[in-house]
Amino acid sequence: MKVKRILVTGGAGFLGSHLCDRLVEQGHDVICLDNFFTSQKSNVTHLLGLPNFELLRHDVTHPIWLEVDQIYNLACPAAPGHYQYNPIKTMKTSVMGAINVLGMAKRCRARVLQASTSEIYGDPDVHPQPESYRGNVNPIGPRACYDEGKRAAETLFFDYHRANRVDIRVVRIFNTYGPRMHPFDGRVVSNFIRQVLDGEPITMFGDGSQTRSFCFVDDLVEGLIRMMNLEDGFIGPVNLGNPDEFTIRELAELTSELAGKKADFVFKPLPEDDPKQRRPDITLAGKHLAWKPRIPLREGLQATIDWFKTIDQGQYRAPTPNF
Ligand code: NAD
Ligand code: UDP
Repeated sequence: MKVKRILVTGGAGFLGSHLCDRLVEQGHDVICLDNFFTSQKSNVTHLLGLPNFELLRHDVTHPIWLEVDQIYNLACPAAPGHYQYNPIKTMKTSVMGAINVLGMAKRCRARVLQASTSEIYGDPDVHPQPESYRGNVNPIGPRACYDEGKRAAETLFFDYHRANRVDIRVVRIFNTYGPRMHPFDGRVVSNFIRQVLDGEPITMFGDGSQTRSFCFVDDLVEGLIRMMNLEDGFIGPVNLGNPDEFTIRELAELTSELAGKKADFVFKPLPEDDPKQRRPDITLAGKHLAWKPRIPLREGLQATIDWFKTIDQGQYRAPTPNF
């Protein structure tokens, strides 16, 4: 294997830190770039002493000069409470961050992969969602800073590809969970686990009949790496996610069962523009990457609960004002 110089923006985050783990393990020279807006150094401290790992505090909205062969662009707050905390900054991170990594990729002739999202489909009226579906996003709602920022980033990726022949990959990630999720990020899996373990009632938004399809982080990271290294001419966009669909109520019941603690539910209003259903069509990922998720929700959720039991929540920065 040829050792590559690889930049992971947002590398200290939940997904980024697992990706850094895998790339370092494979022997690559990894630069993890992060401004620690929604993460902490503890996600990557175990890598700090290694000769093929480097940690840079930097904000992707500002240009940076590095020499690399591959870039995974993951920098962006991902949980609704985090991305709505400073929506203008969220949009800047997606758009200016994309421009900056694409500029770097153009100069170094690096390959650059964008971590896009199922949110670009909005509240979908096509189900499950194939990549050809153009989505149903409210451009002026509270989720728009994230959804439209990610849509604009996809546009920039394809325009840099067409205009400047930048070697791009675009991946649309569906709800992913696992160890190292921020315990106060307000996302449904982390929230439910933390609430059950702390003996609090589970906060159910709406009646809990809305659906999501949950992918374990190890499966997702495998898909990201396969897509980055694919050489068959397919550049995406490609959906990566687990097609097993659950209602939020089913997730709550399973969390309580696996944690071995009975939990009460408290019902809260469904947030504005909250998608009612979401499930990836992963036909393209199967065809081009020979990829499909291997870890069922029950197994991945158990591993995540076990990790949450080991952490000291006091070491995590307080929740954003939205939660
Ligand atoms: P995360 O919040 O744990 O990670 C994001 C990382 O980006 C954090 O470490 C954060 O500090 C960093 N960051 C944010 N703004 C930055 C900036 N301006 N400059 C530098 N660093 C910045 O979230 P995650 O779940 O690991 O998500 C990683 C990426 O994957 C995001 O781009 C997200 O949109 C995408 N994604 C994730 C999911 C999911 O379910 N986890 C689903 C769809 C898309
Ligand atoms: N949700 C919930 N209770 C919570 C957090 C989230 O019922 O404490 C719901 C939320 O309304 C949404 C789903 O769970 O329908 C997934 O929310 P999350 O914020 O994890 O991600 P999304 O897929 O909406 O970006």
